[in-house]
Amino acid sequence: MHIYLDNAATTPVDKEVIEAMTPYFDNVFGNPSSIHSHGRQARSAIENARKTVARLLNCSPSEIFFTSGATEADNLAIKGSVFSLGIKNIITSPIEHHAVLHSAEWLHKKQFAHMHLTPIDSDGSVDLNKIEDLLKQNPKSLVSLMHGNNEIGNMTDVMAVSILCKQYNALFHSDTVQTIGHFPINLQKLEIDFLVGSAHKFHGPKGIGFIYVNAKNKIESIAHGGSQERNMRGGTENIAGAVGLAKALEIAYRDMDHKRKDLNELKKFFIESLKDSLPGISFNGQCLVENSLPHVISIATPHHEVNEMLLFNLDIEKISVSGGSACTSGAIAASHVLNALKIDENCGVIRFSLSKNNTREEISRTVSVLHNLFS
Ligand code: PLP
Repeated sequence: MHIYLDNAATTPVDKEVIEAMTPYFDNVFGNPSSIHSHGRQARSAIENARKTVARLLNCSPSEIFFTSGATEADNLAIKGSVFSLGIKNIITSPIEHHAVLHSAEWLHKKQFAHMHLTPIDSDGSVDLNKIEDLLKQNPKSLVSLMHGNNEIGNMTDVMAVSILCKQYNALFHSDTVQTIGHFPINLQKLEIDFLVGSAHKFHGPKGIGFIYVNAKNKIESIAHGGSQERNMRGGTENIAGAVGLAKALEIAYRDMDHKRKDLNELKKFFIESLKDSLPGISFNGQCLVENSLPHVISIATPHHEVNEMLLFNLDIEKISVSGGSACTSGAIAASHVLNALKIDENCGVIRFSLSKNNTREEISRTVSVLHNLFS
């Protein structure tokens, strides 16, 4: 049996999603910008998808813009804030996704804005008092803090951050890629300027995501072209993708609390089994904390020669997981998140990430393979 435990990287597409998308590769192939019936059919599909996303997040359809994924959406939020909304300072943390960090670094390097990185604790937690200090010193700020961290599972109290931002007249963007589909988001309650999602993280297709832009913010496109997505994103729309994204989100919202509870139980079972079978392991970040992402566990394994080939060995055993390393131009380097946490370099790092498709049997087999590797 193949075991897939890398769901924070991407998830398999639900069958129902594939069924919903199929007609848009086949019969309904029109370009939504065309005024004939083929075009109108496609237009109606994308607008219905937008309405579904807006209904689930409790915002207006005019606040949802489809993008190629979360990377583009994060870029739009951050660069749009600087180029269209007068933002001069970007306050963020060292454990954000590169879509955020590299956008902010680029703006800093080109002197369009200043990037300020808040210090983090050894478990990756962000201290809101430190964010407040930065807000006091830096007017015209955008705060960008992710809702759930893809590598270590830490969660940010977005409600508290939004209140703080309001107090200091700052904008707030959150990369919600790892929480959309796991946690309900009510945009009538949460005052936020931008949030983003990516369908392939919640059993939808790759190459489609969205950005929520609060109606009070008018930002300009960063890629110029046609007037699609109300001038926010030129280029013929990905109809099948948008339909698939909306369907996947609808499925994720069905019985969401129950599914999250099941995932949390599976995660607890996994953690307890790891503790029992692998003495000497430690857990990175806050993945042991009650309100951390229900699908992410990051471990540091004891010093052992097997660490060098850990992922390879798991792969041979047909277990797909992610490591703590990024392979950049052939060289293996610890990820920026693990570097920020100062994790012992001699440990092996594994990130397991679960989905609704995983079972206790799969977890038990994974733990037993690890136990044998370290024996
Ligand atoms: N933000 C986070 C937290 C992610 O985990 C990812 C994907 O790994 C992204 C952004 C980028 O998403 P996409 O693949 O849709 O560009």
